[in-house]
Amino acid sequence: MVLVACPACDHRISEKAVACPSCGHPGRQTDRHGLVPALGRVAGTYVSANAITGAILGSVMFVSFAAVLITLILTHR
Ligand SMILES: [Zn+2]
Repeated sequence: MVLVACPACDHRISEKAVACPSCGHPGRQTDRHGLVPALGRVAGTYVSANAITGAILGSVMFVSFAAVLITLILTHR
């Protein structure tokens, strides 16, 4: 959950909050033009891209390890 400062009272509110729970300021309207949600979205993309890269790298490493093990088993016979 991304927290942004309410422009009216500086209360920390969720990026997805419809309105500030402290003062009732409509958070979503200001968020649309805000810099913090944009940064949050970029960070989210970066994190998910990193997770995908990690998953691919992990499976490639596993396959390589398995291939080496199979080669060792076959050549030691
Ligand atoms: Zn507020």
